[in-house]
Amino acid sequence: MIVDLAKVSPEGDRFIGQEPPGAMDLSSEESVEIREGLRYDLTVQVLGDELLARGRVELDLACRCSRCAEFFATSVFDGHFDLIRELPEKDRLIDLTEDLREAIVLGFPSYPLCSDNCKGLCAQCGVNLNNQSCQCKPVEDDRWNGLQDFTLE
Ligand SMILES: [Zn+2]
Ligand SMILES: [Zn+2]
Repeated sequence: MIVDLAKVSPEGDRFIGQEPPGAMDLSSEESVEIREGLRYDLTVQVLGDELLARGRVELDLACRCSRCAEFFATSVFDGHFDLIRELPEKDRLIDLTEDLREAIVLGFPSYPLCSDNCKGLCAQCGVNLNNQSCQCKPVEDDRWNGLQDFTLE
């Protein structure tokens, strides 16, 4: 998103739009897939020698579930995007793309789940338990069995 200072009125202006999907480099994020562009709805104002931008940024994306490893559609948004940028002396164009990108990356879930009830993958045969069941027996956790020997006599 590039703001042309010549087009910003002193009272502030509303910028509503969408970045092209390729505008943000998120290739380092392995658990997300970007198919849509980032949407923004910002009020931009110039106060003295500073640019103020605040509003909402939102991105539809696909996230890889931490349990079953399937991609699922979700969206990340920052409803309180708030930026103050010192104005450069000469440039008339201010690029906010990187700031928008940062706001979105901060909103990525650290432990994405396709659903709270996601059953995940079978630890033994690897099938996705959301789609099918398997015949594996649950591994018994026998670490606690020894404790029974310590009962008081
Ligand atoms: Zn899942
Ligand atoms: Zn299994």
